[in-house]
Amino acid sequence: MTRGSSTARAAGIVTLVVAGLLGSAYVLGRSLVSDQPPPHSTGATTSADGPHYADQPSTGEPGAAPSSSAGPAEAGQDGSGRDAGGDNLFGAHSTTGTPRLALTFDDGPDPRYTPQVLALLSEYDVRATFCVVGENAQNHPELVQSIVDAGHTLCNHSWHHDVGLGARSADAIRSDLLRTNAAIRAAVPNAPIVWYRQPGGAWTYPVVSVARQLGMTPLHWSVDPSDWELPGASKITATVLSQAEPGSVVLLHDAGGDRQGTVEALRRILPDLTARFELEALPTDPT
Ligand SMILES: [Zn+2]
Repeated sequence: MTRGSSTARAAGIVTLVVAGLLGSAYVLGRSLVSDQPPPHSTGATTSADGPHYADQPSTGEPGAAPSSSAGPAEAGQDGSGRDAGGDNLFGAHSTTGTPRLALTFDDGPDPRYTPQVLALLSEYDVRATFCVVGENAQNHPELVQSIVDAGHTLCNHSWHHDVGLGARSADAIRSDLLRTNAAIRAAVPNAPIVWYRQPGGAWTYPVVSVARQLGMTPLHWSVDPSDWELPGASKITATVLSQAEPGSVVLLHDAGGDRQGTVEALRRILPDLTARFELEALPTDPT
C-alpha cells in the first residue's frame, strides 16, 4: 500500500467514524422524538415538476443527519409524529388552546395546489395557517403574498424541509430558520412569522430552543390524515371529520407531491367543519 492510499484509507475511516457518531446522535434524537413507525419506502410522487420532499433526502448539506438506516418513515414529509406524546414535543403546541379549530397547510407554496386551497378557503370564508418552506417561498413570492393578502397566517417550515434539522448544531438550525424567514420577508416584508413547524414533527430540544429564541412558537398538530401518503380524498376526509374536535390543529399539505387528493378532501370537509366549529388562522400573538 502506498503512503497516499494509506492516507486516503485513514481519511475514509475518519469519515466513517464521524458518520457513525452523527448517526448515533440522530438515532438518539429520533428515539426521543419517539413512536416512529418502522422505516419503509415513502409515498413517492410522480409529478414532473416541483419539489417532492418524499423523494428527497432531507438535505444535501454537510453534517446532515443520515436517513437511510435511521431515517423516519416520512423521509421529508410531516405526519410521522401523530402518535407522539407530549413528552416528545418539547413544548410544541399541538392544539389551538381555544375551542377553535385550525387548518394548517405545509410544504408550500406550490403553484399547482396553493391557489386551489386559497380559492376553497375563500369560498368558505375560512382563514388558515401556511407552514411554508423557504426555498418555495423564494421561488413563489407571489403565492406567499396571496396567502397573506387573504388573511392567512404564516409558519416557518425550514429552508429545505430538513427532517434532520433538529440533530444539527444550534448555529446551523438558526441559520436555516433565519434564511427561511428572510425569503418569506422578501415576499411579505411586514407579515409576522411567529410559528415554526419542524419538518416530520422531528422535534428536538435544540430546534425548539432556537425557534423560541427567534420569536417563533413551535407548532405541532393533533389531527393528521397522512395526506402526503396519498390515501385518497375519501380517506383524508373521513379521518379529518372523525378526529376533529374543539382545539384541533389539522395537518394538511398543499405541496411536496401530488396534492390533488388533499384539495378534493378540503372541498368535502369545509362544509362540515365550518358547520361544527369556528375555524381560525393561528394567531400572530401566541402566548
Ligand atoms: Zn412538511
